[in-house]
Amino acid sequence: MSGHGNTAVDERIGSGLKSRTKHALNDEFLRKAVAFTTDKLKNGRLQAMDTFGDWEAWRERGRAIRSHTIANLDYYLGQFADNVVQGGGNVYFCKEGKDAVRTFMDIAERNKAKLVAKGKSMVSEEIHLNQELEKKGIEAIETDLGEYILQLARETPSHLIIPAIHKNKQQIAELFTDASGEHFEPETKVLAEYARKKLRNYFLEADIGLTGCNFGVAESGSITLVSNEGNGRMVSTLPKVHVVVMGMERLVPTFEDLEVVLNLLARSATGQKLTTYTSILTGPRASGDLDGPEELHVIILDNGRSEQLGDPIFQEVLNCIRCAACLNVCPVYRHVGGHTYGSVYSGPIGAVLTPLLQQDMKEAGTLAYASSLCGACYEACPVKIPLHDMLVHLRHRKVKMKLTSLPERIAFKSYQTIFGNIKLYKLATKSAYYMQKPLVRDGMIKAGPPPLSGWTQSRFMPMLPKQSFRDKWGALQQELASRRKEGGKR
Ligand code: SF4
Repeated sequence: MSGHGNTAVDERIGSGLKSRTKHALNDEFLRKAVAFTTDKLKNGRLQAMDTFGDWEAWRERGRAIRSHTIANLDYYLGQFADNVVQGGGNVYFCKEGKDAVRTFMDIAERNKAKLVAKGKSMVSEEIHLNQELEKKGIEAIETDLGEYILQLARETPSHLIIPAIHKNKQQIAELFTDASGEHFEPETKVLAEYARKKLRNYFLEADIGLTGCNFGVAESGSITLVSNEGNGRMVSTLPKVHVVVMGMERLVPTFEDLEVVLNLLARSATGQKLTTYTSILTGPRASGDLDGPEELHVIILDNGRSEQLGDPIFQEVLNCIRCAACLNVCPVYRHVGGHTYGSVYSGPIGAVLTPLLQQDMKEAGTLAYASSLCGACYEACPVKIPLHDMLVHLRHRKVKMKLTSLPERIAFKSYQTIFGNIKLYKLATKSAYYMQKPLVRDGMIKAGPPPLSGWTQSRFMPMLPKQSFRDKWGALQQELASRRKEGGKR
């Protein structure tokens, strides 16, 4: 598997971060492609904000709705589940990813399923459902175009809403050529035409349609799906069984609340007023309905989410509506793309969510360092999640758990001792001036030894002056005092 999001690589999220970063930074095409598309999405969002009235008020409203829902999640989950069941569906609460996989397999076995048509579902990526289906000999076909391209390339998504952000037309044409045996020119129209024809058959032949859920509406038990390709609608209505796999936090209480979050989601994700297809599905096909599945199963996954409930710092991460606006503005993501994070969830939200969901500070916790802490993610977030603060808290957690490297711990301990003692501080700044001398060229340190080399690889460091600011300040104070004294004498 060439992607980075598979289980084997997930285990090395932290220790593989440096090499993946290096790899991505050397991939000029990837950097250009990611920067081009994220710029486009970001500009679309900014334009949409301008024309939408009081954006701050909308953000506040979105935040209030999400915070209220998460604070009362037990109540709304109960209400949602009751309404799904009343409408003729089935609900399964799953504690861990493997429970959700087993539940899905049971449904597949009962229905003797051989083919599953999938709409876009990040949760199914999170639990590695495709790999499990493959092991059981069940064919799973991604029907979202970006996901389909990645399935052919055997890669994982590198962006929350544009999964194949790192691929160009040439690469896609080659993938389609390999998969079909026909030759394809790298032309958007031709490639889209092929995908449309190819995927249409799967909608009709699939035994099960599987989707995620953008928002579940608690007051009715409805599943809301948004897409720009319409595949979500096909997958959820044509096969006779529809299975929804959703995170337990993806709820809103009412349709009135849904209106707010859908407005925020479309505008923040792509700058659209509304996503092209918004489907609201309530229950399986009822008598008299012209279409719809005969069975509806809703798998609700915890997988580390409930651990965040009640946490004064991290509960708010569950407010996320997966719009990807934070990815599009993050200077780190924009340079390295999503696969560098080694996790299904990338960018600032991924750097916070991954260690929390995996409850792994040692490896996944390292993602908290993949940030400049500039706060651009918070500014862009439509529900005002303070991701930059959370990243600092994660770093703190890692330090408290003594999970940082020994040299780093020694460095910070020394820093603390020196900066906490004025005599040591003065001695250290004086000696640093003399110690730096062998490295200084033209008043700059241009190539330092490790760990300083991490800095000097990309920029020069000005040499420390002989006289520190503190010394200069002291001398100035003395001079002023003596002048005052002299003035007084006259
Ligand atoms: S954290 Fe905010 S900006 Fe990032 S994906 Fe979630 S809702 Fe969107």
